[in-house]
Amino acid sequence: MIRDNVQKIINELPQRVELVAVIKGRSPEDILTAVEAGVKILGVNYIKDVRNLFPLLDKKVSWHYIGIASLEKHDLLRRKYLEIFDMIETVDSVKLAEELDKRCANIGKVMPILIEVNIAKEPQKSGVIPEELENIIREILSFKYVRIMGLMTMGPLADNPEKLRPYFKEMKRLFNYIDSLKLPNVEMKYLSMGMSDSYKVAIEEGANIVRIGTKLFE
Ligand SMILES: *Cc1c(COP(=O)(O)O)cnc(C)c1O
Repeated sequence: MIRDNVQKIINELPQRVELVAVIKGRSPEDILTAVEAGVKILGVNYIKDVRNLFPLLDKKVSWHYIGIASLEKHDLLRRKYLEIFDMIETVDSVKLAEELDKRCANIGKVMPILIEVNIAKEPQKSGVIPEELENIIREILSFKYVRIMGLMTMGPLADNPEKLRPYFKEMKRLFNYIDSLKLPNVEMKYLSMGMSDSYKVAIEEGANIVRIGTKLFE
């Protein structure tokens, strides 16, 4: 039951951790039930889901974009969606940040972003590889209409969440390192990692945003 799942997870999360409910593949009814049960932030992989849901929910919830931004750029960069999204968690190139900066300048909005890290350096995955992270952040920080607020990662597939622990640890180390640089226009506030199978381990390693779909909706 969605209502019970939501309440159980909200109750077990430490206060400092925010829950993003990942809505891909879920019906509007199920999503509304989750919101009524206490979900405050929706995680969106596909812009088309916003198109259907925004009329029902408007700004009663926060909207985080967690999809493959380079694929959906055409829609994501439209004024309407830039106005809707409260955070874009999957920025993985200077070019994308630059485009966001230009479009957000037009609407006078400073967009909070997370930099997506490909922590296991998987060839098929999006995200910045760890070795490039600092340089990319140093380039993006000059854009006035995007604000780097942390890091996000997907992590590799694993049959056991313990196998992800070293990757989550490395994310936290990178997060602390970037924070220690005290870069202007960069605020290392959010570390978004952990999904249905792995969020407990991710929280133990320092996540303060977890993105959960399956465990809420099934
Ligand atoms: C689907 C998805 C999740 C949630 O995965 P579950 O295993 O269903 O909890 C989290 N983050 C991203 C980017 C996703 O695409």
